Amino acid sequence: MQYSEIMVRYGELSTKGKNRKDFIRQLGRNTKAVLKDFPMVEVKAQRDRMHVDLNGADDKVVMNRLKDVFGIENFSPSIQVEKDMPTISEMVVAMIKEQFRPGMTFKITTKRQDKNFEFNTNQINNMLGDYVLDNVPGITVSVHNPDIEMRVEVRLNGVFLSSETIHGAGGLPVGTGGRATMMLSGGIDSPVAAYMAMKRGVKIDMIHFYSPPYTSEQALAKAKELTAKLTKFGGSIQFIQVPFTEAQETIKEQIPEGYLMTIQRRMMLRIAAEITKRRHCTGIFNGEALGQVASQTLESMMAINDVTNMPVLRPLISMDKTDIIKIAEKIDTYDLSILPYEDCCTIFTPPSPKTRPSLEKSRLFEGNIDVDDLVEKSIARMKITDIHPGDEFMNTDVEAFAELL
Ligand code: ATP
Ligand code: MG
Repeated sequence: MQYSEIMVRYGELSTKGKNRKDFIRQLGRNTKAVLKDFPMVEVKAQRDRMHVDLNGADDKVVMNRLKDVFGIENFSPSIQVEKDMPTISEMVVAMIKEQFRPGMTFKITTKRQDKNFEFNTNQINNMLGDYVLDNVPGITVSVHNPDIEMRVEVRLNGVFLSSETIHGAGGLPVGTGGRATMMLSGGIDSPVAAYMAMKRGVKIDMIHFYSPPYTSEQALAKAKELTAKLTKFGGSIQFIQVPFTEAQETIKEQIPEGYLMTIQRRMMLRIAAEITKRRHCTGIFNGEALGQVASQTLESMMAINDVTNMPVLRPLISMDKTDIIKIAEKIDTYDLSILPYEDCCTIFTPPSPKTRPSLEKSRLFEGNIDVDDLVEKSIARMKITDIHPGDEFMNTDVEAFAELL
């Protein structure tokens, strides 16, 4: 069955007035962005609903894309027919027959926008209900809990029929929640944290630290590829790669081993905060979860967070690893994340970093290095790439992957 349009219902629209308008406008924009390669599709974001006119586009592909767009509560593929009862009746029966299994119940729900249509909602419900009972052997009516709810909308430009409601991604349209940076490694957690930030409407710019020649081109490509995976939730993402080699080498030379990790993290956060400020973003997201590793204890977070008063947001803070992995699998970043490319943090990580670093000692040891100079050098050498849906940075061939594992 070829559908004519997808009717989209909005998510959390509790907000009123201007926020509501922003929500709808942004959702329209984001939807157009993910369907950019379908020029015939028309997206009409109206007050109560959004209509996605397919004009011949493949409905399955379009629906698959819509499933990932934040701000959509659910949607129904609809078929447009002429405004005359015999045509409507035939199509209703055909659509029900496609889903019908013995023992199923149904219900017709009509909405009438066109008050000049020759029948009212009750009459339409009754006429169509009778026609279905006569033409689909074995089907019965259930008003309260039907297996098939056939929705009939009589609009000015035609009658729209739908019998399926598909869950959307929920959340808020990306771009309605301000702009922040995200510290993206190549690991499992940070892409999931990015996804969660986007789910609440935040537009994110990725900051990725890399340390050539200690880290390879593939490690960098992996972080870009992860970013490309995340564009399906809200369109293009800016990827900021920041060289970290000089800072790491200096820290390695000047700082006692037990504090290497803490000082490296302080330096990363300091650089990230400066980039965030210069880009007029208002927060830094990361993928930290309490207790996962040495740097993710409360004491460590206090010693590291000390370098900035910019909000550092940790969507995964109290999640279990198994639950984080489930989301990573759902958003299709897991297989990439587990590829064994070295991360800049692991390279100079001492065998036993302090799990309870002291804030005073961190500040004291850091006095040995010219922090501002290192921050400026890293920022001067950073590079920004616009990453769009569909961009590829790695050979995503599964067999090639398997060899690496
Ligand atoms: P992840 O799976 O996100 O790498 P993790 O559990 O491995 O997390 P760490 O490697 O200690 O933990 O990193 C903690 C957080 O620090 C990451 O989630 C990420 O936000 C940030 N981070 C780590 N490495 C980098 C990097 N190379 N570039 C940018 N941010 C990083
Ligand atoms: Mg990591």
